[in-house]
Amino acid sequence: MKAVVNQNTCIGCGLCVGICPDVFSMDSDTKAIAISGPVPAHLEDDVVSAKDGCPVEAISI
Ligand code: SF4
Repeated sequence: MKAVVNQNTCIGCGLCVGICPDVFSMDSDTKAIAISGPVPAHLEDDVVSAKDGCPVEAISI
């Protein structure tokens, strides 16, 4: 699994960072970014929760 944040859609609410800080972080423009490599298996459920919880559907997996 890989996670990608659409920088044009993200509103920087921080929800994904709160759910899974090992994969998501806020960049300098207060948009979220995801790690570039594969999501570790034990974090996949959290990434799905973040994707489902994102209010603007900015996360793709
Ligand atoms: S949950 Fe969605 S809108 Fe909020 S910071 Fe993460 S990607 Fe951006």
